[in-house]
Amino acid sequence: MIKTGLYIHIPFCRKKCNYCDFYSLPCATNENMKEYIDALCTQIEAEAKDYKNRIFDTVFIGGGTPTLLEADEFIRLTSAIKTNLNLTQGAEFTIESNPDTITKERLLAYKASGVNRLSIGLQSANENELLLLGRIHTLDKFKQGFLLARECGFDNINIDIMYGLPEQELEDFIKTLDTVSKLSPEHISAYCLKIEENTPFGKIKNSLRLPSDEDESLMYETLYSYLDKKGYLQYEISNFSKQGYRCQHNMKYWLSMEYVGIGASAHSFVDGKRYYYSSDINEYISSVKNGTMPKRIYEEGYSNNSHSLNQNSKIDEYIMLKLRLSDGIELNEFKNRFNIDFYDYAKEAREFLSTGHAVEQGGSYSLTPKGFFVSNYILLKLLKL
Ligand code: SF4
Repeated sequence: MIKTGLYIHIPFCRKKCNYCDFYSLPCATNENMKEYIDALCTQIEAEAKDYKNRIFDTVFIGGGTPTLLEADEFIRLTSAIKTNLNLTQGAEFTIESNPDTITKERLLAYKASGVNRLSIGLQSANENELLLLGRIHTLDKFKQGFLLARECGFDNINIDIMYGLPEQELEDFIKTLDTVSKLSPEHISAYCLKIEENTPFGKIKNSLRLPSDEDESLMYETLYSYLDKKGYLQYEISNFSKQGYRCQHNMKYWLSMEYVGIGASAHSFVDGKRYYYSSDINEYISSVKNGTMPKRIYEEGYSNNSHSLNQNSKIDEYIMLKLRLSDGIELNEFKNRFNIDFYDYAKEAREFLSTGHAVEQGGSYSLTPKGFFVSNYILLKLLKL
């Protein structure tokens, strides 16, 4: 049995946030959602035979805002998963949520369906920043949702936060860190705002007063030193957890382990091939309804017939994913896998040891927090393509 992750994409949100370029549609009706859940259940059932040799040890329902689904629709989806796929006992089962959509009824339905990890998008503890980001919830609403989740028995909760926001000062970000750490979630994901072209922020990017590079770097330094003092270990560029609470599903992405994605715009890595479905819910639903099933779009370098990445691309992909993790690259493993010494392949890697951007310890090469902040630059230097 191949240990595999399962990702289900729920492309609905109450309203689009000003910075978001994930595939999600605002203003969907209950009817739209029901139709989409029908299609997800049908695809799971139809493809289950292809996954008989797999055991799913992580499930991640992401979006979008999966917690927009009514409890009965959610139960229908999870029943289809459990009926058709092999799940390990106690598989990590995460659902992403927006605080505005958390209710006791839904939380209890998730618990009863086997969900054991809740991820809540807060982004900021400052009301003015929430407004600017176009978030639909207040800080109070978030706190209520968090406490309700604890009351309903969720003992593995992630909170998403952001920094590098327009107008943001270091003290504002520290307030977010204070608020979040006081609640003591098991996991914190912290992302630097990136302005994407096809978003409301992208259209007004020249008028946004974004923090300077130095200020952003200071926020990042504050982030990891602050969370370190509170007992959170940085295990990935943007992810921090208490001991034993790394997100097992996301670890699969960084460790190049396989995962099956179901739903519009979902990505998969199955039998050594990477592919995704188009970001078009109507196309997705109609292809499932008419039995042709959604068309797999293979990522560059991966063909329908073979895993055709050339050797350098494979090595680059490996380095790129592994250097996101604080565990980094195990040098012996690298040599055995690719038949070349890491330092012979990535000739400039030693330079980053002397500048404090990377360390070699316990037989592994990894980036330091200072290196994580400029990881894109470092990767440009280390990769061949
Ligand atoms: S709630 Fe999340 S997925 Fe939906 S628009 Fe906002 S950031 Fe994007």
